[in-house]
Amino acid sequence: MADQPEPHTKRRLPLAFKWTAVVAVGIFFTFIVFSVMLVTLMRQILINQEQGTIKETISAVELRLAPVTTNLTHETVLPRIESSSQTRLPDGSITGQAQGSVFDDSVIQKVSRDDMSLAIYDRDGHKIFTSRESDEPLTTVKHTTIKMVDNGRFRGMLARAPIVSSENGKMIGYLQITDHMTAFYATMKQIWEIIAALAAVALLVSTLVGFFLARRFLKPIKLITNTIDGVNDEPQSSVRIPPLQRNDELSDLVDEFNGMLDRIQRFIDQQGEFVQDVSHELRTPVAVLEGHLQLLNRWGKDDPEVLDESLTASLQEVKRMKSLIQEMLELTRADQVDVQFPNATADLNQTVEQVVNDFRMIHPDFVFTLDNDLPGEVYVRMYRNHLEQILIILLDNGVKYSRDRKELHVSAALDSDGVALAVQDFGEGITPKDRERVFNRFYRVDKARSREKGGNGLGLSIAQQLIESYHGSISVDSVVGSGSVFRIQLPTITYDEVLTLRAAEEAKQKEAEGTATDQIKSNL
Ligand code: ADP
Repeated sequence: MADQPEPHTKRRLPLAFKWTAVVAVGIFFTFIVFSVMLVTLMRQILINQEQGTIKETISAVELRLAPVTTNLTHETVLPRIESSSQTRLPDGSITGQAQGSVFDDSVIQKVSRDDMSLAIYDRDGHKIFTSRESDEPLTTVKHTTIKMVDNGRFRGMLARAPIVSSENGKMIGYLQITDHMTAFYATMKQIWEIIAALAAVALLVSTLVGFFLARRFLKPIKLITNTIDGVNDEPQSSVRIPPLQRNDELSDLVDEFNGMLDRIQRFIDQQGEFVQDVSHELRTPVAVLEGHLQLLNRWGKDDPEVLDESLTASLQEVKRMKSLIQEMLELTRADQVDVQFPNATADLNQTVEQVVNDFRMIHPDFVFTLDNDLPGEVYVRMYRNHLEQILIILLDNGVKYSRDRKELHVSAALDSDGVALAVQDFGEGITPKDRERVFNRFYRVDKARSREKGGNGLGLSIAQQLIESYHGSISVDSVVGSGSVFRIQLPTITYDEVLTLRAAEEAKQKEAEGTATDQIKSNL
């Protein structure tokens, strides 16, 4: 018996756990990726909107200060950026709550937000006006710059722009807008919190979904494992996987698995029966041999007559055993012939004629009639020796079980399914009950008579096994006392198919020769 594999001492992670983890991580990861993409996109849209607002504010302020031709001063800036609630800062600059003048401008009104500050500087960097105090120092710029800044001191959008006189094109000052974007950061924070909450829910839901799916998909595997355990515990048990109420690959697997168990069971039963049949069949010749040897042992040494008789009988029995063993071997090989001879072809006309002629020669007391309606060459996909063997078995039985009328008719003709062969005798016939059994192994209608005629009850089993292996069929019609007709049906093949099969066989042989030569060379 083959060694059983060692059971795993350390239990690996169960499949359900792995499956759940993979599904959960997959769903969770997808959720996170999409969320990040969405938030990044939203963030960018909000930033763009804010940038647009700041650009418009810069343009509005520039428009108001552009008519000034000299360096900006309180006097030139204030009338243009008037405010009802302005205050002067210690450094001399003016701070004011936006109301009226430039702050009435719908765009500039946006600057009046608590988190935004607008500052105007002269061209030497002195602060002249600020809408709200801001710590961010001015850095002079040649062009307008708007960027997101997070330097510890300030976090938000920082915009700087030079102010140029529209009259003489001279640089007259600078403008700086610091936007803390409080609403933006608050919104982003809220979004991230919502996403974190949703991610936790997604993780929970995906774990549950993964677990549910894993359980659903793994249920058949559990059933299969239980069934295997059942079969391992009790090899002859008829336990099978219960059918799954689903129509998918897993139910196909279960069907295939149950089918395989049935086939294995049948195979085991057949093997058991075969061994039983064989030992039963061998018991008689062995008992006969033993009897003769005992006779020889007791009397044979002194009595030459007993010696001679017993030796002849023993030899005959040994011969019978030999033929029995030979037939048993043929029977066991007969079900794999299509694999052993995949490219074999046989010419029916030739084979039938030859076998009938051989019988005419061996049994001159019989009349053999051949009714051959085959047109020229008719081929079957079959090893020629096997076709001969089948015809020999049927003709041999015909001869063995004929009585006074020593006549045998053989016929061959084409029909819709291929070729039909028949072997008819006019002998003792077979009863309907026996007709069902004559193809069974070791079955003989009259054991003693059949044994007398050298029959082992295997001929028809071998013939049937061979024919079925070549996808044909065999049947028998019989009338007790009048005779029997054995009919064979075989599929034929066209001459083109014969040529293809012959070419394939030649190629196979060449390849085999090549391999053999290579082997010899490598051995040298
Ligand atoms: P055997 O070697 O005993 O002939 P077979 O398998 O060829 O074994 O046949 C099985 C049994 O079927 C035979 O023992 C015989 O009783 C019966 N049988 C076979 N062929 C014929 C026939 N042509 N006429 C009558 N009985 C037959």
